[in-house]
Amino acid sequence: MNDGQADIGILGLGTMGANLALNIAEKGFAVAVGNRTTAKAFALRDDNPGIGENILPTESLEDFVAALKTPRLVLFMVTAGRPVDEEMERIAPLLSPGDVMIDAGNADFNDTVRRSTAVEATGLHFVGMGVSGGELGARHGPSIMVGGARETYPLLEPILEKIAARYEGEPCVAWLGPNGAGHFVKTIHNGIEYADMQMIAEIYGIMRDGIGLKPAEMATIFADWNTRGLSSYLIEITAVTLAETDPDTGRPMVDVIVDEAGQKGTGRWAVIEAQKLGVGATTIEAAVSARGVSSRRGERENAAALYRDVETAGVEFGGETDHIAALEQALETAKIIAYAQGYATMAAASGEYGWSLPLAEIARIWRAGCIIRSRFLDDIARAYDTGENVVNLLQAPDFVARVAAGEVALRRVVAKAVLAGIPVPALSAALAYFDDYRRARGTTNLTQAQRDLFGAHTFRRLDKEGVFHHRWPAV
Ligand code: NDP
Repeated sequence: MNDGQADIGILGLGTMGANLALNIAEKGFAVAVGNRTTAKAFALRDDNPGIGENILPTESLEDFVAALKTPRLVLFMVTAGRPVDEEMERIAPLLSPGDVMIDAGNADFNDTVRRSTAVEATGLHFVGMGVSGGELGARHGPSIMVGGARETYPLLEPILEKIAARYEGEPCVAWLGPNGAGHFVKTIHNGIEYADMQMIAEIYGIMRDGIGLKPAEMATIFADWNTRGLSSYLIEITAVTLAETDPDTGRPMVDVIVDEAGQKGTGRWAVIEAQKLGVGATTIEAAVSARGVSSRRGERENAAALYRDVETAGVEFGGETDHIAALEQALETAKIIAYAQGYATMAAASGEYGWSLPLAEIARIWRAGCIIRSRFLDDIARAYDTGENVVNLLQAPDFVARVAAGEVALRRVVAKAVLAGIPVPALSAALAYFDDYRRARGTTNLTQAQRDLFGAHTFRRLDKEGVFHHRWPAV
């Protein structure tokens, strides 16, 4: 391969960058690669016979830039935050108008909007691209959410369509809107992922602490659930992890793992953005908070001792099969509500930032490659494809029928768990959101009265047009 022949360049060869480079090279594209630790670039070529011939390692940014066809496509896959800005600042003077910088890491979409504005003003282009699917996805087919200047997409599309995951032949990649749209959608994807995982963990908690099932028994149940409505990657891996045995102790693997969950921040961003937009993404919020609580293990152990008697207040969970069916239906119903919240957040952002996010298309590109991939997303795509203005998934006819059929199970499971002292923060947040959302006459009339009393904030009336202030008794 000669200089100036690479179709795309990747800077950053950690877990994601290296695997993405291999995926692109394997599809027949020439990839220039560079990394802060340059040895990794050469190792990537040398350690991958067969694919390595399409990989062009470079030692300096000058070499890297010279290796690229014009307009140059420079993809950053470095640690999110400051390193992205640093790499961009270093390479920008070496690029020419029309070249495209692509941040494919997990950026805060606010950073993407800022970078996009700054870069576009110089004549270069900027694309913020969310990539989901982890290491294996990057290597064999991720779901790719592209945002940025529309005119750059035809430059990227031939490569992205080849490397993306496929669902029934359709590539799981799309241009979703300008500047921060791609990274925003990735953020919401991750928020939904947190909610999905937390709700599964809560059902596991009921099975373990309420019913007394063994992990292997739970694995069989989750594997069975994976054949029906809940069928998804996350349910599949739940069954796999629960079935695994620790080679050191012979005990179930999950029983030897510390119950403190890590997080890198994308779930938190989803909650922050939902709050800024005034959308109640309460299930996602509960999931993010639950990881926070989980990380305070020492505190929890002390509190468990202080409140030992409280846990005996409870209700017995039976082991009968219809109880398992209720758990399945509860999880399915809460899942619809969690996704409705995620989609409501994207719809609000779309309006606020003028993105016109294609909500059906987003569901379609999430059907394969990403962590929340599932058949269920096909149903969401259909709901948004009807042409009717779906204000919230909870108002789409198919989902109305499903939630109406499943809400009793969710209510019973949450109520029993609450009485038994088994925490179900995400499941109960989903139920509370549903009950709040379906209540035509809410209670914030009282809140408005209070606000008007202490702050003269005014209120509107049901029986007259206009804005009113009442002379409340002095308190
Ligand atoms: P890794 O930690 O495996 O790799 C980080 C890369 O960034 C390395 O190439 C490292 O270079 C480089 N780097 C770090 N700091 C600097 C710096 N200051 N200047 C130049 N280069 C730097 O990260 P991942 O591959 O896991 O993640 C990359 C991005 O992809 C992140 O934004 C992450 O959130 C996102 N992502 C990760 C997923 C995953 O499953 N891992 C899934 C989806 C997105 P060096 O080799 O020299 O240390």
